[in-house]
Amino acid sequence: MKKHGLAKFGQLLGNLGAVKFSDYKYNRQNIAQWDLSPKSKWIVKNINIVDVEKGKIHEENAILINGVRFGKRLQQQEVETLSGKPEIKKVIDGKGHYLVPGMSDIHCHLSLISEYGIKPSGLHYFDAQRMKNCEYALSKGCTTIRDSNGAYDMVHGLKEEIDNNRLLGPRILPSYTALTPPGGMWDINGAANKMAEMIFGGKILDYPKNMEDIKRHIDEVVAWGAHSIKIFLEDKPIYGGKEDFVYNMFTDEQVKYIRDLADEHEKLVESHALFIKGARKAIRGKVNSIAHLTLDESYSIKDAEMMAQNNVAIVPTLSLGSFLAMDCGTKGFPEHEEYKFFREMLQKYVKPNMERTTLPQLSTSYFSFYDYIQDKIEGRKMPGFGHVYPERCHGFGVYAPKSFENFKKTGTKVGVGTDGGTGICFAGALEIEFESYLRYGYSTKEIVRMATLGNMEIMKMDDQLGSISENKWADMLFIKDNPFENVMSMTSPVKVFKEGRCYIDNEV
Ligand SMILES: [Zn+2]
Repeated sequence: MKKHGLAKFGQLLGNLGAVKFSDYKYNRQNIAQWDLSPKSKWIVKNINIVDVEKGKIHEENAILINGVRFGKRLQQQEVETLSGKPEIKKVIDGKGHYLVPGMSDIHCHLSLISEYGIKPSGLHYFDAQRMKNCEYALSKGCTTIRDSNGAYDMVHGLKEEIDNNRLLGPRILPSYTALTPPGGMWDINGAANKMAEMIFGGKILDYPKNMEDIKRHIDEVVAWGAHSIKIFLEDKPIYGGKEDFVYNMFTDEQVKYIRDLADEHEKLVESHALFIKGARKAIRGKVNSIAHLTLDESYSIKDAEMMAQNNVAIVPTLSLGSFLAMDCGTKGFPEHEEYKFFREMLQKYVKPNMERTTLPQLSTSYFSFYDYIQDKIEGRKMPGFGHVYPERCHGFGVYAPKSFENFKKTGTKVGVGTDGGTGICFAGALEIEFESYLRYGYSTKEIVRMATLGNMEIMKMDDQLGSISENKWADMLFIKDNPFENVMSMTSPVKVFKEGRCYIDNEV
């Protein structure tokens, strides 16, 4: 992928480290054969069509696909009449499977790679891992993702390859470079910030000093085609620095300015917040959604009421719980039920996901990160950062049940996202999300809706995507089981279609 400035230098360093004179050429996965034009009409018959809105199975068991969009649902009789007509180019037998809308992961980072224990030679393979992340997300049934922060060259490069059918991957709704104030979270120091550009393929953060800088940033990402403006509202570290260290945060006035500019351009605002102070600032600032859960206290009923009132959704990224369930010996909350649950999720899903998702040349680094989380270490340090604060890490699970209770009481919108790209979380891998939602009392019907239509409502794209409705884009999955009985079957689709085209067919 094209790189500029320091990123280009990083690539060169990676190639040198791997003793290679050119960039690594990734052997991409095959895209399923598709012989129809984007204007062709065709039919899926003998399939149980899932109505995510009403939580039921439609009475008709066939559907017309009108090029890139859904057509009408059809009765058996109509299928027989239409099948013989010349304008119907194909009839696919759904074999009694279930047809669900394409899912989405609305908080992940396709271009970020776990840099744990990475040597310069690792950089040689980062672009390949980025492509593999896209392939994996689509294979898991996510036809849309929000890329919540990444360098323009990387995210846009992946998007172009996918949109031109040269790479398997979801539709990307990008945020590109994110905003954090000088002295704020991730403003580490001059050298480290530059180093990040080398690792991540370009600038992933802007540190605006004043209102003019904020405007310049927003104008820039809007010109690039960003779907959301990503900001950080965080006042303390979970690792690194000192425990009592306080990060700079944007002022309420600055958050309001960001909100106003985003409105002017009809863009969403997404805020990262892991602590209640930043979360409350985000709620007051009427951002569209908050990423992650809080580590220091639960969202109170008042917070949740205000979220519902201000239309602020939350994307809890529960997969992050397994990342934060680091064994700190006696420190933190090792006896807490929620800590134990996320440990269980770590063991059940993370390693198999790693095996399927990571490039062999990088897997040692991913697995050693897994081992690092898994191992019992009192007085932990995050390599390259410093001290880990166990109460904060384990707080993710500890404060979760009460937050969900309050979200439910107030009807606060909850979305589905993985934070894939951060260490041991993977874009499109929704298993931990679903298991956690079941644990926190959501029904299978609610979960199916959240991962499809609910997410698209948060992204303000529900008029185009998220359900199997006439004239919406024909993003759909064939799955084996009734998702209302077995919601996990959503995560291993048999076939994956995006805009009426089959991209992944596990039946051939
Ligand atoms: Zn994230």
